[in-house]
Amino acid sequence: MKHLSFITETFTESVIREMTRVSDAMNGINLSQGFPDFESPAEIKQAAIRAINQNWNQYPVTFGEPELREAISRKALAYNHIKSNPDTDITVTCGATEAMIATLTAIINPGDEIIIFEPFYENYGPDGILSGAKPKYVKLYTPDWHFDFDELAAAFNSKTKAIIINTPNNPTGKVFTRAEFQFIASLCQQWDCYAITDEIYEHIIYDGCQHISLASVPGMENRTITINSISKTYSVTGWRVGWAIASADITSRIRKVHDFLTVGAPTPFQHAAAEALAFPIEYYTQLQHKYDTSRTHLTETLVKAGFKPFNPKGAYYIITDVSELFDAMKAESDMDFSKKLIARTHVATVPGSSFYNGNNVITKQVRFAFCKKPETLEAVRQLFSTLL
Ligand code: GLN
Repeated sequence: MKHLSFITETFTESVIREMTRVSDAMNGINLSQGFPDFESPAEIKQAAIRAINQNWNQYPVTFGEPELREAISRKALAYNHIKSNPDTDITVTCGATEAMIATLTAIINPGDEIIIFEPFYENYGPDGILSGAKPKYVKLYTPDWHFDFDELAAAFNSKTKAIIINTPNNPTGKVFTRAEFQFIASLCQQWDCYAITDEIYEHIIYDGCQHISLASVPGMENRTITINSISKTYSVTGWRVGWAIASADITSRIRKVHDFLTVGAPTPFQHAAAEALAFPIEYYTQLQHKYDTSRTHLTETLVKAGFKPFNPKGAYYIITDVSELFDAMKAESDMDFSKKLIARTHVATVPGSSFYNGNNVITKQVRFAFCKKPETLEAVRQLFSTLL
């Protein structure tokens, strides 16, 4: 048989999704994949049912139903200070995942470099490879996941095409600051680069931190592609409705890729999404409070059980150092640690190595998702109480 593609040989399957399968097979408690185990808001479910009954069941406008693009544009102006024309600057995609790969495919040429902060959401690695980009990783340092300005500056050169930024950040919970963004903006302008921002956790933020959209920083309006989705904000990760906001010339390229990749995101869910985006501000405040309580709950559980968690400032994950338990359990790798943990406690996690570059990396870190019901987190507390 002839060789299958070399590209697909070079990356592995998603460890996050694999851990979900391991968890399901063991009837475990899934704190690996970041999806809520509680009900989605009733209003948005009703809106989707209504849309189906109103016969919004055929292909959508390929780059997004007009009502949704208008709702995205309004919300981005109100919450993110991003000005956009819904007719020319917005592409609705199948989740932020498609928005990212469609954007990279739209802008990358062979040999172009992209900069990714490490640890990073595991999709960005294969996204880079699939689009033909050469990733360069810049480290985020514990305990607060800052980057070194000189190291970032040194990563840029004439081949740099884009920098990917996820804020609030998965897996670290880092929220990029205005000072960091001003520095990143100056480098993007100096080297004539694009910035692709994944802002899917924008409303999940703690300790008085503020979410800033890089596209709102002066000079970045026309070189930033802002990606978002309804998945996390409205607890509907299975609906697959996301979008990219970018200037018209970039958007026209993203739309071409998107059209041939997927044609469109599910039509009835786009109509429901348009309603969700008009929720009052209290909806987002309540979401924040709820996740803040869950963050405290899981942090306490982890500390008592011998983990050394890094406090997240946003998103709904806790990445934690596991050195002590790692040695106590005689783990050979973080994957081995995660498998031993699930065998012993039935709680599934994601090994830290899936957020770092390289095939043979072993970390003493794992990531837990806390977008779960209080009962789920309480069950984890009890299961972990015997760990040490
Ligand atoms: N973003 C979520 C996570 O990091 C889920 C990713 C996915 O499976 N699409 O767990």
